[in-house]
Amino acid sequence: MTNDFAVDVLICGAGAAGLTLAIDLARRGVSFRLIEKLDDPFRGSRGKGIQPRTQEIFEDLGILDRIVAVGGFYPKQREYRDDGSYADTDVVASEPATPAEPYHLPLMVPQFLTERVMRTRLAELGHRPEFGTELIGFEQDADGVTAQLATRTGEKTIRVRWLVGTDGGRSFVRHALGLDFPGKTLGVRAIVADVALTGLSRDVWHRFREGDMQRQISACPLAGIDLFQLQGPVPLEGDVDLSPEGLTALLAERTGRSDVVVHGVSWASAFNMNARLADRYRQGRVFLAGDAAHIHPPTGGQGLNTSVQDAYNLGWKLAAVISGAPMALLDSYEEERRPFAQAMLGLATSLLDAMKRGEMRRGRDVHQLDIGYPESSLSWEKPERTGGLLAGDRAPDAPIEGAAGQPTRLFDLFRGPHWTLIVVDGDHALIAPRAKLHIHAIGQKDELIDAAGHFRDAYRPRPGDWFLIRPDGYIGAIVTSEEIATLEAGLTQVGLCADAKEAIHA
Ligand SMILES: Cc1cc2nc3c(=O)[nH]c(=O)nc-3n(C[C@H](O)[C@H](O)[C@H](O)COP(=O)(O)OP(=O)(O)OC[C@H]3O[C@@H](n4cnc5c(N)ncnc54)[C@H](O)[C@@H]3O)c2cc1C
Repeated sequence: MTNDFAVDVLICGAGAAGLTLAIDLARRGVSFRLIEKLDDPFRGSRGKGIQPRTQEIFEDLGILDRIVAVGGFYPKQREYRDDGSYADTDVVASEPATPAEPYHLPLMVPQFLTERVMRTRLAELGHRPEFGTELIGFEQDADGVTAQLATRTGEKTIRVRWLVGTDGGRSFVRHALGLDFPGKTLGVRAIVADVALTGLSRDVWHRFREGDMQRQISACPLAGIDLFQLQGPVPLEGDVDLSPEGLTALLAERTGRSDVVVHGVSWASAFNMNARLADRYRQGRVFLAGDAAHIHPPTGGQGLNTSVQDAYNLGWKLAAVISGAPMALLDSYEEERRPFAQAMLGLATSLLDAMKRGEMRRGRDVHQLDIGYPESSLSWEKPERTGGLLAGDRAPDAPIEGAAGQPTRLFDLFRGPHWTLIVVDGDHALIAPRAKLHIHAIGQKDELIDAAGHFRDAYRPRPGDWFLIRPDGYIGAIVTSEEIATLEAGLTQVGLCADAKEAIHA
């Protein structure tokens, strides 16, 4: 087998997971191809809820403002009673934003618009998905993966170092690896349809017969476009008429109203709900990310978000290993992401049970701000902390000031593909500068000033503490200045080696 690699990474599937990985690799200068078997971009609204943690990631990837601008926020939901009266409630439990958590409300953005913004960002970085290109086979060996592609101009074979299957719930890559996808079919089939309709206002999410799994239906006015997203359970067997006439009849039957009329259907699907998790996320040089690794009911609005976050966890690790970091770094991908997906499957399934009882309420747990990796081999503290912020936690934001008095935020410092190291009232020269690591000192006489105490409140630092923040916004390490040798060893472990200490600090 020749080791003439076309690119370092082949990404199979240009949905949310594949596009996130592509953007992350592109901004890190890693060579890759992103292939997509569809001839054109997917057009449905399905994954429309963008959770606060994903908003933070989108800020880092440079697309948050555009995503907000093309979408919007959730309106209240209106639950109709059998007598036609109704009550309006919030779709999500909302708390105000805080200095540590700047985004608190889920956004509503039809998935095809989110993906369009991602493709625009990718184009700015010099890449685009290759539509009409399907992965139809692959073999791996110790050095790389040989992949067969069916393209618009015939079959091609390419050799790459790594393959990532971001190819959705029916993943070809997962099947080809022979990985198990255990879990259960949940005995619920539902429709989702993007429709033009009249007869319902656009200021609320209309919900009829909540808790009645035979007759429930909802119509959500989609932010950013003029359509509604219809959702409702349907019988497990038999054809479902997804034409405008068929959906109008379904609405009439379930709402008891003849004034609600569907005039057009731009995308529709009937699907069976499953909760399944791949046995492994990696086999040798091949990874799974996104729905390829986990599928679950859409009740918690978690799928797209989890898919984006899988890719965001994998991207920096792959890039680091490609540029020489120890291979062991890649083991932490499954170690960190699979347990979280397992918990998320439980959350989405329990929300489905609550929906069946007409009691579904989405709380803080769907925001994904509390995800962390405290058990990860990449999280360490010296000495061990007993409370407050711990290694593995999400690194909070904090408004601070630069020494010149200008307002800034920790998230401004974190933005980009680098690691960040912050020393509190300490000597930043204890750690030599090096590529891919930004070192900052915070204190009364330092480059950064915690003028309003937000950093103190969120990080609970002691003088001489060092906080290492990973490229994906989690705390990698918290160490004291006495443990600087441990910090240095940890930096080497993740590929951040010093090479010019004497020259720079002389
Ligand atoms: C009704 C509904 C509502 C939802 N609501 C939410 C929500 O509010 N929030 C949320 O987070 N999620 C939601 N989801 C889930 C969300 O849509 C998915 O989790 C998300 O699309 C997964 O992204 P992905 O990139 O992993 O996979 P996909 O979006 O499925 O993309 C996979 C891509 O791979 C391509 N592909 C497949 N095989 C090959 C091959 N062999 N070669 C090349 N390309 C290939 C496919 O064509 C596809 O474009 C919802 C889903 C549904 C059905």
